[in-house]
Amino acid sequence: MPDSFLSEYQPFREEIREFVAEKLPDDMKERTRQGFHPTKEDMRRWTAILHERGWSAPGWPREYGGAGWSPLKRMVFEIEMANAEAPGLSPFGLHLIGPVIYTFGSEEQKARYLPAILDGSQFWCQGYSEPNSGSDLASLRTTAVSDGEHYVVNGQKIWTSEAQYADMMFCLVRTDSSGSNQGGISMLLIDMNSPGVTVRPIITQDMSHYVNEVFLEDVKVPVENLVGEENHGWQYSKFLLANERTASAYLPQSKRDLRRLRELLGQLREGDDYLTHDATLDLEVARTEIDLAAHEMMVYRIIEGAYRIDPNAAASMIKARGAGLQQRISSLWVEALGPHALPLFGSGTHESGGYGLDLSPGAMSQYLIRRAVSIYGGTNEIQYNIIAKRGLNL
Ligand SMILES: Cc1cc2nc3c(=O)[nH]c(=O)nc-3n(C[C@H](O)[C@H](O)[C@H](O)COP(=O)(O)OP(=O)(O)OC[C@H]3O[C@@H](n4cnc5c(N)ncnc54)[C@H](O)[C@@H]3O)c2cc1C
Repeated sequence: MPDSFLSEYQPFREEIREFVAEKLPDDMKERTRQGFHPTKEDMRRWTAILHERGWSAPGWPREYGGAGWSPLKRMVFEIEMANAEAPGLSPFGLHLIGPVIYTFGSEEQKARYLPAILDGSQFWCQGYSEPNSGSDLASLRTTAVSDGEHYVVNGQKIWTSEAQYADMMFCLVRTDSSGSNQGGISMLLIDMNSPGVTVRPIITQDMSHYVNEVFLEDVKVPVENLVGEENHGWQYSKFLLANERTASAYLPQSKRDLRRLRELLGQLREGDDYLTHDATLDLEVARTEIDLAAHEMMVYRIIEGAYRIDPNAAASMIKARGAGLQQRISSLWVEALGPHALPLFGSGTHESGGYGLDLSPGAMSQYLIRRAVSIYGGTNEIQYNIIAKRGLNL
């Protein structure tokens, strides 16, 4: 069904396939196929190659250097990219802060940051969560006090993905403690090389270095790095989170991973030296295929505006359902491979996160890290609360 629904995009798909066949470097393609996390250099290089074609920011308006495609066309593009084993791009500049800057930022911020995000030369991270403020984000306690020229920032962020790569952080800070929690939050753009910024790695159970703690001690941030208006940061952060949750559908990757699992099961049967290819597994794979097709249709209907539903509730539906499917698919991989899924040879670096036999690249690594999909960007329970309140008016 979804494929016929997208048939009008066939020429566009061919165009993407030709482009990727010509431009995607073999080493990058092989690393992605093997399940390794893209290196910083992979992300920088691939963003620059896409930018030359005008494709690094498919959803941004043309006036800001994007491709200006509809959400549906963008999804077709991303499905083709995943199928071609192109590495994922760093989302923090392109998907998250870029749209905030061109929607709410000053002209100076647009001129200064958007070109460097588009060509991959500048990396960003997201400074939202704090040790005691995750789901209850509005309770955050990092403070920013203005002396007229600068904000002086003090506090701690945690789980900051890719902070070790980042040149800049978009950061939620408290600029007013007198009223409601939400009403006293501002968004600052902080140079990660500023004195007083310390990044400390957290190694996750897949032995990768992806997340960090970030300490901010008397960090001076020029007042022109405030996004929009002071104490309006909550509004910008909600806009950004809706984008983050929609991107977390991970539909292209789930389609690719499930298709690959089918291929793997075929290979295992021919080789007959693997343990797990029984009827129960087949049934579960078939069920997951059906659920993924249903999810895909829901994503298309939402992005095409076919449902009359609050956009935040819609983003939460996509996020919660997409996270569950990602986790199921990675579990099925491990189940199918039995003991062959076990190898995990991490050396504690972000780049070394994928492994295993040639048949099972990255299976265990993916299984472990995908437990986090229902946590980051807001846990599933928080998504269900949003759906209940904003979607069902409960
Ligand atoms: C791999 C990874 C990458 C991340 N990257 C980033 C990043 O780049 N930047 C960033 O700012 N943050 C990042 N995060 C943090 C993430 O956003 C938080 O972990 C998440 O919001 C949950 O917050 P918490 O960990 O404090 O858990 P808590 O908020 O303490 O939640 C604990 C449990 O209680 C449940 N719970 C809490 N409140 C409610 C409620 N009202 N109703 C029902 N259940 C509730 C939650 O669902 C959860 O199960 C990342 C997290 C991970 C795991």
